[in-house]
Amino acid sequence: MDFELSDEHVALRQSLRTFFEREAPLDVVSRHDRDEEFDNDLYRKAAEIGLCGLAFDERYGGSDADQISICIAVEEVARASAALAYAWLPTATFCAKGLARFGTDEQKEAILPRVATGQVRMAMGLTEPNAGSDLTHLASRAVRDGEEFIVNGQKVFTTGADTADYIFAFVRTDPEAPASRGLSVLLIPRETEGVTVRPLRKLAGQATHTCEVFLDDVRVPGENLVGELGQGSRIIFDLMNGERIYVGAEGTGLGQGALDMALAYAQQREQFGRPIIEHQAVAHMLADMAIDVETSRLITYSAAWKLDQGMECSLEASMAKVYGSEAGTRCANRGMQILGGYSYMVEYGMERYWRETKLYEIAGGTNQIMRNIIARELAKR
Ligand SMILES: Cc1cc2nc3c(=O)[nH]c(=O)nc-3n(C[C@H](O)[C@H](O)[C@H](O)COP(=O)(O)OP(=O)(O)OC[C@H]3O[C@@H](n4cnc5c(N)ncnc54)[C@H](O)[C@@H]3O)c2cc1C
Repeated sequence: MDFELSDEHVALRQSLRTFFEREAPLDVVSRHDRDEEFDNDLYRKAAEIGLCGLAFDERYGGSDADQISICIAVEEVARASAALAYAWLPTATFCAKGLARFGTDEQKEAILPRVATGQVRMAMGLTEPNAGSDLTHLASRAVRDGEEFIVNGQKVFTTGADTADYIFAFVRTDPEAPASRGLSVLLIPRETEGVTVRPLRKLAGQATHTCEVFLDDVRVPGENLVGELGQGSRIIFDLMNGERIYVGAEGTGLGQGALDMALAYAQQREQFGRPIIEHQAVAHMLADMAIDVETSRLITYSAAWKLDQGMECSLEASMAKVYGSEAGTRCANRGMQILGGYSYMVEYGMERYWRETKLYEIAGGTNQIMRNIIARELAKR
């Protein structure tokens, strides 16, 4: 067993850290966050350095990166800007990956090269008002009409839908079949007649809007079906382990950012005649943050490695998701305490981490659902 990252992995982290420190400094990210304004420029530059093509192969402009590299990229993006993570992850590591694995050659040729260059973004249309944790209740309906599908229904919490080019929508194509066979994926161009997108006000990551999507008699060409008819559940299961591992990496990256910020602050802030890091209560909080970051990184990379080997990893992916997200929350909490009153001030950045981290315990399957999966897998194994 080798715990050392390869030279390429180390170089990747270093180059991304430098890139984000230059292109996404705290004041710029905070301004976009407060103004609820998407940073198109940052997304384009992230695409230029290859971030948008990590999950698919070179034929379509990607780089087919290994899972550890993707985790490193996710950590660095989450450390810099959750808003970028909320737009980039659904596009690059969920929808584009789904398209690469299940799409037709025509779909891949038409869309993936433009994903790689940052020209095309996709939003993940899974959750509905009555189907959150329980996806068997997905009710958006697509009915064949000659060469087209007619789609009716509603999605909720579709992040980035207002600026995405496509909604990667999970729809019911066979209402009689059990959920495992009755769902399909349709790529719905956002600008199609009958698609209405309404951004929702939210707690954090506001620069990428989370939206309601209303689908009223939307006509979608038959060639926009991704995978086979009735393959929707298979596509969800295929992509979900990766998705959960990446949420673990987001928690790790945010935790690392909070640790870096709190450590720098504790070394320069003096009270009672010495830097606060010399007060043991503060030093122990920093030590606990470092333990959390290290542990969540290890559990996440171990799950990522299994995914790369093609091994069954729903237990490990769920553990990485739970541990990484909760470690991120603990780090942000401790970071707030270490910065004292300054943690509340926007210019210090800690309050943004504190708001952002909660989502990782909820999205991608709540941590309660993850614990259900972990317990089920334990019993099975
Ligand atoms: C900011 C944000 C962005 C999001 N982005 C997207 C996106 O881009 N695309 C998308 O499709 N979705 C997105 N989501 C949706 C997210 O994945 C769901 O919120 C999540 O899956 C939970 O669903 P729910 O909110 O309906 O909660 P519910 O399923 O209603 O759960 C409510 C509570 O009950 C608990 N619970 C439910 N069932 C069980 C059970 N069997 N055992 C134990 N506890 C249970 C849950 O853990 C939770 O605590 C986003 C959500 C947010 C908040």
